[in-house]
Amino acid sequence: MNKKQEHLEQTMETIHQKDNTPQIIIDEEAEKKEILSRYRKLLKSIKRKITPQERQNIRKAFDLAVKAHANVRRKSGEPYIYHPIAVAQICAEEMGLGDTSIICALLHDTVEDTDITLQDIEKLFGKKIASIINGLTKISTVLDKNQSIQAENFRKVLLTMAEDIRVILIKIADRLHNMRTLEHMSREQQIKIASETLFLYAPLAHRLGLNSIKTELEDLGLKYTNPEAYHEIAEKLKETEEERKKYIQKFIQPVKKALEEKKFKFKIFGRPKSIYSIYNKMIKKHVSFEEIYDLFAIRIVIDSEPDNEKSDCWEVYSIVTDIYHPFPDRLRDWISTPKSNGYESLHTTVMGPEGKWVEVQIRTTRMDELAEKGYAAHWKYKEASHERENKLEEWLKKVREALENPDPDALEFIDDFKLNLFSDEIYVFTPKGDMKTLPVNATALDFAFEVHTKVGEHAIGAKVNQKLVPLSHVLQSGDQVEILTSAKQKPNEDWLKFVVTARAKSKIKTALKEQRKKVAEEGKEILKKKLQKVDLPYESEIINEMVSFFKLPNVMELYYRVAVENIDLPDLKSFKKYKESKRKKTNIQENEKIETLVTRTRGKGDLLVIGDKMEHLDYKLSPCCNPIPGDDVFGFITTEEGIKIHRVNCPNAIHLLSHYAYRVVKAKWINEHLISFLAGIKVKGIDKLGLVNELTKVISNEHQVNMRSIRFDTEDGLFEGDITVYVHDTKHLNRLIKNLKKVEGVTSVYRMDGTENNQ
Ligand code: MN
Repeated sequence: MNKKQEHLEQTMETIHQKDNTPQIIIDEEAEKKEILSRYRKLLKSIKRKITPQERQNIRKAFDLAVKAHANVRRKSGEPYIYHPIAVAQICAEEMGLGDTSIICALLHDTVEDTDITLQDIEKLFGKKIASIINGLTKISTVLDKNQSIQAENFRKVLLTMAEDIRVILIKIADRLHNMRTLEHMSREQQIKIASETLFLYAPLAHRLGLNSIKTELEDLGLKYTNPEAYHEIAEKLKETEEERKKYIQKFIQPVKKALEEKKFKFKIFGRPKSIYSIYNKMIKKHVSFEEIYDLFAIRIVIDSEPDNEKSDCWEVYSIVTDIYHPFPDRLRDWISTPKSNGYESLHTTVMGPEGKWVEVQIRTTRMDELAEKGYAAHWKYKEASHERENKLEEWLKKVREALENPDPDALEFIDDFKLNLFSDEIYVFTPKGDMKTLPVNATALDFAFEVHTKVGEHAIGAKVNQKLVPLSHVLQSGDQVEILTSAKQKPNEDWLKFVVTARAKSKIKTALKEQRKKVAEEGKEILKKKLQKVDLPYESEIINEMVSFFKLPNVMELYYRVAVENIDLPDLKSFKKYKESKRKKTNIQENEKIETLVTRTRGKGDLLVIGDKMEHLDYKLSPCCNPIPGDDVFGFITTEEGIKIHRVNCPNAIHLLSHYAYRVVKAKWINEHLISFLAGIKVKGIDKLGLVNELTKVISNEHQVNMRSIRFDTEDGLFEGDITVYVHDTKHLNRLIKNLKKVEGVTSVYRMDGTENNQ
């Protein structure tokens, strides 16, 4: 808490009345002072030179925002205006943006939440600012007000972003401030907003090169989606801090001395890895905190003239590797070839003191600033960042292109697109030597579509470094690729199995849909004739019934299946039978609405209470994460199986919460000790005589847990075991895991997500 906030706290007094509802007495004068002081702090944080005219405009925007949001408070009880000021401050200080963005940030919630109209803004501040505010308002109505990011909305967001990059930068600043103040929201809101942040905003920040903001968004996202894991890692980082600092000093000392001798101006320091990245590593590699060796990286930032940047960085590399031996395959040169988000740096991993591998990052002050603050910091280094800007432009162009192809399977589009936002890159070359950037695992076919849609559609094979390869061939950085085409070639379904770029996927799907449409046209005529044979009329009502009878997504699919004889006369006959039998029965409503589904399934459910009213409803425990009492859980309404219960940290949760938030219901455990639940545990360690015996002893004797199954594999002296046990709740399970870890020879024990597929 800073001094000013403290002061504010003191001026706000909380009195508990008889009915225990807290009431806040507000000192308006103190608040006014506080607002002004925050505004002054904002002005000071502006890094560019601004003219008196620009300063006047910022003041005008501030006054307007203060007036518009007067008497409105945030959930925390603070005046609303603190929020737009904070967002503007993030834009100025952490992104290095200028007056236009600051004005827009100050006004970003006015059109949506107050009486001020877009016309007012245009009259006062001109067309440009009005159009950015318009973009921000549009995003916020599609994203924030709707219950989830639906595909079509996502497309709109990206389209707006592609129009003016400042829209998305301000939106990210807005989200960052909301995440920083998320503690005041309800648990449901926290989970929803945090999931969306991890799903969309953090990858966007990454793509725009806003490294520190991305890291903060991810850490905060984890804090609210998986508080337990977050606090555990934070705690352990703190515990090990002293030790780490000592080690870093030991590592740095000789390097520092050598750099000083060579008269470098530099900073050298250890940077801890983010909690989120440590968490990810633990999950992905199934290792414990203690087993992660790269909890930090050493960063060397040097002052360098624009012309000497590259050679200076390599000289530093040479100095470092004279002292510590480098790991041969771990050199990454993003100075010669920057990443497409503009990242430039030299990374290597060296053998440090005490036999520990340490990552070293070497870069110049300019590169460091760009890496932390991203695109927006480029104004300071206009010329040198020329290439960087081009890269971003290229990426935005790709976004626009991907959006031009409206895709009915837009949800898939989101996932493809997101994949591309996140993935690392490779650099490959055309026969003429032009460089193309592709995501890791891109194939020759992805490359073909990158060159041109027509090249992709007619591709039959490729030559990589002069050698003939199939289209599914995975490319490596540095490959030179030539695509072979044939006029007769057409895209086929199989292609979708190996392409990875959003562009290739969407182009192939469009082409396939065209082909399907043609076949479907024929199917329509065939269906007419076949219906005659079974004595049913060809009319839209019948057709629609058939679509739902055969569980198809749409009419076109029906026609298509008829054309390829996947649906034939016998099927039509059974449809007719079903129709006749249905007429006799009393109507059972199909396509029940969620509400009716919930009421209908109301019943036993004695372990969980569900929904806003915390009722007893019927539910199923989802096998993908296998929740047990004590887990933080939510209910997800499915159309076929009623309510399914997932863990909040289920691998699928972020996807479900961000795509289908409207189908999520609250759920809470009760009666925790009545029934046992099945949970899977994985144990790894060094094999020795009697170990299995000891493990089973811990399980059955010490805890009186029932074991359902146990399976051990040993290889080269290492063992791996899968144990499934019945436990009452998470406390019970964690106690068991803790005790298993104590067994000599055991190196790691962790809970598996599902009991169905243990791999
Ligand atoms: Mn806002």
